[in-house]
Amino acid sequence: MKEYINKILFIGMGLINSSLARDLKQLGYYKKSHAISRKEETIKKIRELKLVDVADKNYKNGVENADLIIIGIPVAAYESVIKKIIPFVKQDTIITDVGSVKFDVIKSVKKLLPKNISFIPGHPIAGTENSGPESGFQGLFKGGWCILTPDKRQKKNAINTVKNMWLRVGMKVDIMDPRYHDNVLAITSHIPHIIAYSIVGTVTNLELSLKKEVIKYAASGFRDFTRIAASDPIMWRDIMISNKNSIINMLKLFKKDLNALEKAIKQEDTDFLLRLFTETRKIRKDIIK
Ligand code: NAP
Repeated sequence: MKEYINKILFIGMGLINSSLARDLKQLGYYKKSHAISRKEETIKKIRELKLVDVADKNYKNGVENADLIIIGIPVAAYESVIKKIIPFVKQDTIITDVGSVKFDVIKSVKKLLPKNISFIPGHPIAGTENSGPESGFQGLFKGGWCILTPDKRQKKNAINTVKNMWLRVGMKVDIMDPRYHDNVLAITSHIPHIIAYSIVGTVTNLELSLKKEVIKYAASGFRDFTRIAASDPIMWRDIMISNKNSIINMLKLFKKDLNALEKAIKQEDTDFLLRLFTETRKIRKDIIK
């Protein structure tokens, strides 16, 4: 396991990678750091925030001699980025990522990446609805779970290096099959986002006078939905498409349960309602515990 990293490269410096960069810098985890971003304005912000030693668009300089590369961009952009990395990557470089969907992403990366290069996919389950390098902060990952989904070919040493990095920033780490990861995240994260996008969308389509009242009197329930629905549109578009199969399967279950709830309300089945609301309250208490 690499306890100490000489050079780290962040590809993408949004909420997740910039939070990680802040934590790792404070821990003295690496000697040199480089960040690659697409837009000039983002590179300017990364420099102003002093998140890394070098920030630019230069894949050759960034990838050469990097011990650890962390990809933190929307999942649909992986293929184009992997193609830019390949010419300069050295044999013992470890590549990891923070993407929210794993199976499809791994498939596309594995197709391109030479077999002798370590790729240890990861997903830190932490975040906010904000984007960009300025929205990151120290301590974002503390106490959360990070899921790693390496395949059987990957070296223990590489897996432990990535695991150690997440442990250092305060996460608990689990190893999981990528398909299983995508199913779990479909129900715990992706479907809740669909519900939020959909309910806020419904309000958007209400007639103007009613919409004004909804916004004026929005209590915590609707407000919580609007916070989730304010998440980055590109990131969530990519998640929906990349995790299409798991999401569709979970949506079928959700729609079945929603229909049962609608029927219970229609029929004034108070026993059903009370039983369901009592069970869900218990789940909330278990999560908080
Ligand atoms: P973000 O704040 O929106 O930042 C995205 C970054 O990716 C920016 O630095 C952007 O650079 C870069 N980028 C966008 N398109 C690119 C492309 N085609 N090629 C190269 N770079 C590109 O994103 P984030 O929230 O940190 O999310 C990054 C990854 O983490 C995503 O895969 C997401 O699924 C995952 N994730 C997010 C959360 C969350 O709550 N946000 C939680 C866990 C995991 P420019 O500004 O220069 O374009």
